[in-house]
Amino acid sequence: MKPVEENWIKIKESVINDYNISSIAVKTWIDPMEYGSETEDTVTIKLPSDKAKILDLITDKYKDIFIIAISETLGNDNVYEVNFIVEESKPQEKVSIPTNNQENESSNPSLIKKYTFDNFVAGNNEFAVSCCLAVAETAGTDKNLYNPLYIYGGSGLGKTHLMHAIGNYINEHNPSLKILYVTSENFTNDVVNSLRSDKKYNTDSMSVLKDKYRNVDVLLIDDIQFVIGKEATQVEFFNTFNALYENGKSIIISSDKHPKYMEFLDERYLTRFQMGLQVDVQPPNYETRKAILLQLNQKHGNKINDEILTYITDNISSNIRELEGAYNKLIALSRISSDEIDMEMAKNSLKDIINPNKTKVINSDIIIEEVSKHYNVSVSDILSNKRNKDIATARQVAMYLCLKLTEDNKNNIGIKMKKDHSTVIHNINKVAESIENDPTFEKNIDSLIKIITSL
Ligand code: ADP
Ligand code: MG
Repeated sequence: MKPVEENWIKIKESVINDYNISSIAVKTWIDPMEYGSETEDTVTIKLPSDKAKILDLITDKYKDIFIIAISETLGNDNVYEVNFIVEESKPQEKVSIPTNNQENESSNPSLIKKYTFDNFVAGNNEFAVSCCLAVAETAGTDKNLYNPLYIYGGSGLGKTHLMHAIGNYINEHNPSLKILYVTSENFTNDVVNSLRSDKKYNTDSMSVLKDKYRNVDVLLIDDIQFVIGKEATQVEFFNTFNALYENGKSIIISSDKHPKYMEFLDERYLTRFQMGLQVDVQPPNYETRKAILLQLNQKHGNKINDEILTYITDNISSNIRELEGAYNKLIALSRISSDEIDMEMAKNSLKDIINPNKTKVINSDIIIEEVSKHYNVSVSDILSNKRNKDIATARQVAMYLCLKLTEDNKNNIGIKMKKDHSTVIHNINKVAESIENDPTFEKNIDSLIKIITSL
């Protein structure tokens, strides 16, 4: 065996033990790394293919650490260049179910303690979780990655959970930092009340407010979409943003949409939001939904049987808040019922939430998700500008089906799919043309429509 290969375990241990890396970071970044190969002066470390998107991030964070750890483990003359690569073969998707749900000692009144990285099931949102963790690890330090971090996605998908997880993580690992979490509604109320009070009583509440928001190391502001259009609040927010940013403080923002789609957002603000990193939180896939339910069930002493959990997983697909709601309803039922909950009781109790006779409203999210599965490309690829043939076809088909199966018009489709109007028209026409000219393609589309309408 070659020197690094022989000492690989020791090197990994040194990385884990000597560099103050948190257990969640070990689980997310270090554990999946495998020895790849080495030459006289270069070592290649392999990562599973699901880490492809975060290869740059891992290289950024761990290259130097590995170079030093290798040199220290093998003796200081051994300086190797370190590369990270992603393995070609795609292993089975792993959904981790964390077991330790220990409450942390968060003493920050603005943070909800129970929302942590430990109990957030990354599932198909591993990229978002990795970015949030990277920010949590470096916020308020001179490394301060991705500032601002802008987390966006639909309702009930875990944005607020992730924001608090970042806050709690920093609070735990870097307790001297001042962290403030605020919803944009509370921020708005603060601004409005201060302005009113200053006008009415001639007080100086605005400077108190400025102190409150500008004297922090980390500001987390949730649901920023609500400040848009509220002139005074918007101005105050951006002044706060600038003051913090210029002083190297960290800002984490969440919103229901990408900055580009925030109507009424001034160009200069838009640029600010896009200076750091924007990550989207995607609707949970099947495995993620099941893992979230299993985690909840574990917390409640596995009171609900697996068949029922599968029933919920099958029937609630787009929103984790609803998924939890359904589960909690059954737990409440189990408290008042002397018998164990069976399938019939479950179905009956959930009939308002899950109604098999109710025709499901098909929306663009559902279509994009099904098309992504069908063409085996990711949702983010469909929403990207990549021109690879499969991705381009999937994107065109998604647009066509949105027009055919939803109430959306071409304008809305453009907004949802982040494309301009003429691209939408071009893509939809292209699909219509292919359906006319290519019977196999037509069959393909038909079967997709069947899948989507029978969901
Ligand atoms: P959002 O802010 O995007 O509307 P929330 O963060 O409030 O959504 O999430 C709704 C609920 O679902 C919360 O109780 C949260 O803990 C839970 N949740 C969301 N995503 C996950 C996940 N991936 N793993 C575990 N729980 C989750
Ligand atoms: Mg929220």
